[in-house]
Amino acid sequence: MKTTRRDFLRLTGMAGIGMVCANGIIAHASSADKKGKRNKVTVDHAVATLQDGSALATPFWRIECGRDGPSLVLIAAQHGNEVIGTEVARRFQEVCAAHLVAGSVWLVPVANLLAVRSRRHSYGLGPEQNNRIHPTKEHNMQRTWPGNPRGNDTERVAHALDQAVVRHGSHLLDMHCWQHVNAAETLALDDHPASLALGQVTTTRFISLRPSAVPPSGPIMVAQLMRRRAGASLVIELSGQFSMPERQVQIGLSSMVNLAKLLGMIAGKPESIPGPRVVRTKANSHEVRAPCSGMFVPAAHTDRSVGLAPEDRVEQGQPLGHIIREKDLVAVPIVAPVTGYLWQYGLCHWSLCDASLPALHPYTEEREVIATVVTA
Ligand SMILES: [Zn+2]
Repeated sequence: MKTTRRDFLRLTGMAGIGMVCANGIIAHASSADKKGKRNKVTVDHAVATLQDGSALATPFWRIECGRDGPSLVLIAAQHGNEVIGTEVARRFQEVCAAHLVAGSVWLVPVANLLAVRSRRHSYGLGPEQNNRIHPTKEHNMQRTWPGNPRGNDTERVAHALDQAVVRHGSHLLDMHCWQHVNAAETLALDDHPASLALGQVTTTRFISLRPSAVPPSGPIMVAQLMRRRAGASLVIELSGQFSMPERQVQIGLSSMVNLAKLLGMIAGKPESIPGPRVVRTKANSHEVRAPCSGMFVPAAHTDRSVGLAPEDRVEQGQPLGHIIREKDLVAVPIVAPVTGYLWQYGLCHWSLCDASLPALHPYTEEREVIATVVTA
């Protein structure tokens, strides 16, 4: 299975070794393209005037191949702690520089510079706060589109990005990150065929489907804004906030390549992941709750010395770990109730495990959710 995945990531992996400096990217891209052709790559800026009168320039890449076609937009890091898409954008830029054959690609690696600079989900949040406990949610960029040039600073940045990037797009992917206890998932739309088609070619193990309702007025999500303008869009949640896990970068990148292939922007057919695509619903999700209070000890993967992780396949009855029971120190086994894939694995107290250290603590109370296994 590992070999297959490596094959599958041939093209995307090639971009993974690109250098960080501009010269390196150019050298790499030209050596990757035997014909020596390189598409035009521009670094441009969406400039917002903030409330204090200063200017905030949000950089983005635009890659053009000189032939008509779709305009594919990637928006990453709207939430300042969900940053994996930043490196996905950089690697996809390299792929497009060498391989784009139709249309244009617009990549915003850091949509929300204000939140990233403060190293928080949204601008104005304090330490150990996530969006759930945001006092006003007024700086949640995801909910501000199409922005407002006379609004708060986040709304002003969204407006500048819409003017410079989003309004030019025909297709858009909004890239976010779940907390690390959840596996990457595509949030697809089951009643919007053009958007559903995008969701079907991404490379996350998990996909969930929802209606595409777009409110007629008021601030909306950027993916909704694209559909209000008759475009197609979807959201991906990679796994892990405040971090840059390599495997997640590869899932994001291979998803982008597949989208571009589907849209005829890169040659070739989208390549599906090895094993089943798991459509997550309430009905096929099986929660595993702590039978007692105590210290949870995770299990190792059956064929690896490393611990189990979200997205791993587990067999019914397979150990997921044990709890050292508080009252009598007995090790109480926790096992998988069904055969399936781990959508969630590990403790996340108060839904704050990627924002607060105590929320990661292995002490569990009775009835806390330890894992969610989804059948394929
Ligand atoms: Zn997010």
